[in-house]
Amino acid sequence: MAAPTADIGLVGLAVMGENLVLNMESRGYTVAVYNRSTDKVEKFVNGRGKGKKFVGAMSPQEFVASIKRPRKVVMLVKAGKAVDDTIATIAPFLEAGDILIDGGNTHFPDTTRRAKELEPKGILYVGSGVSGGEEGALKGPSIMPGGNVAAWPEIKPIFQAIAAKVKDANGAEAPCCDWVGPEGAGHFVKMVHNGIEYGDMQLICESYNLLKDMCGLAPAELSGVFGKWNKGVLDSYLIEITSEILAYTDPETKKPLVDFILDTAGQKGTGKWTIDAATDNGVALTLIAEAVFSRCISAQKDERVAASKVLAGPEVQKVSDRDQFIADVEMALYASKIVSYAQGYALMAAQAKANGWELNNGGIALMWRGGCIIRSAFLGKIKEAFDKNPKLVNLLVDPFFAGELGKAQSGWRRVVGAAAASGIPVPAISSALAYYDGYRTARLPANLLQAQRDYFGAHTYERLDKPRGQFFHTNWTGRG
Ligand code: NAP
Repeated sequence: MAAPTADIGLVGLAVMGENLVLNMESRGYTVAVYNRSTDKVEKFVNGRGKGKKFVGAMSPQEFVASIKRPRKVVMLVKAGKAVDDTIATIAPFLEAGDILIDGGNTHFPDTTRRAKELEPKGILYVGSGVSGGEEGALKGPSIMPGGNVAAWPEIKPIFQAIAAKVKDANGAEAPCCDWVGPEGAGHFVKMVHNGIEYGDMQLICESYNLLKDMCGLAPAELSGVFGKWNKGVLDSYLIEITSEILAYTDPETKKPLVDFILDTAGQKGTGKWTIDAATDNGVALTLIAEAVFSRCISAQKDERVAASKVLAGPEVQKVSDRDQFIADVEMALYASKIVSYAQGYALMAAQAKANGWELNNGGIALMWRGGCIIRSAFLGKIKEAFDKNPKLVNLLVDPFFAGELGKAQSGWRRVVGAAAASGIPVPAISSALAYYDGYRTARLPANLLQAQRDYFGAHTYERLDKPRGQFFHTNWTGRG
């Protein structure tokens, strides 16, 4: 058999896999490629990969043998059973010290399980989130690897070479890829990224709805508002594409295409996973939860149309000072976004604590700063907050963000009040404000809640005037 020539191998030549190997090859690496249906290998090597440094393999044995030791193999197949099937196909040919990487959208407990299963064989298992869709995979994605840290020095040069690049606080170029943590930490962080993406999108949709209905702005005018916001504190990919979407004219009707799109949103499940992790860890991830549930309500189109004829609500009140309201909505969106990231980071801290992981908080913000859907200038500020204080308990209390929330809150409160008065749903913006007010309240009404629990269930309570850890029960009715 010929001497191995490939620097790295990839299994799974679908849209993501093809683009990722083209990215690797463009950085000077020789890449071995394999796919369950081998006709796709031939098609790729003789098509998009023609004349480039690819080694097409027709069997798993041939594939593994073509990669230099220690072997680095990336799997980019459908999440779930396909990953287990691929491991079963490839792992028998790998040796101790070889590295197996799952780059798909895997649920993080599966990665932790697989890492443990492969440990006795000495295979270094890595679960890596890859974000940025097909264009990101080709031109530079955000990459979030975690797992067996012994793999990191081996894969770091390739991963950081293919990742998106951003300027760090000192103006130096930094790759949007760094080591995240052990076990399934990489996939966990990618999952939280996807949850935050749900939140960011919902916040933009609520802002659009408010400006459309309460200011009566047309899509072209709204495009201008989002375009302006993209030059300020909200500078981000999602705000930028929203401006472009709102400016797009339907070739068929010659009218704004957005007005013809059915208002039912789909979802693939990573938002649900994020909420599951939040409830498992007892973390109030309210904004992302509202974003997921808003998609659920949107999907009930027929019920909503029927209910719109039955359930009463107020008339929408048009705003008198448009410019002020637009500025208020910008602040409501900005403040809510800070809350959403604070909640996402609180979830990451809780999961890390539960699993004994040490997460690279500032590094995570930098990884999301470019290459992925939630990329934004704002993430640079999050990185700065964790660089200044790696033990920060909640992003809201970082001096910079606390100051920003202080400045934004009057507009934020006016928006929530105006939306409620007009009967316009703003679940993400209003739940963010409720979280902010709950988190900054020294004494909540949970005293009464504890009394209720003790009344009907003898669940006991602690007292303000006695040391913490002493529990009391009262016979509230005086009955035996
Ligand atoms: P995909 O449609 O999710 O998966 C297709 C690939 O999986 C094909 O190579 C297919 O092989 C292989 N496969 C399916 N079942 C298999 C099995 N039982 N055993 C072995 N191989 C199997 O492809 P994708 O859209 O490129 O996504 C790849 C991964 O990246 C997924 O986890 C996805 O969630 C994630 N991801 C996708 C995007 C995106 O924008 N598409 C963005 C970020 C992350 P055959 O050709 O033989 O069927």
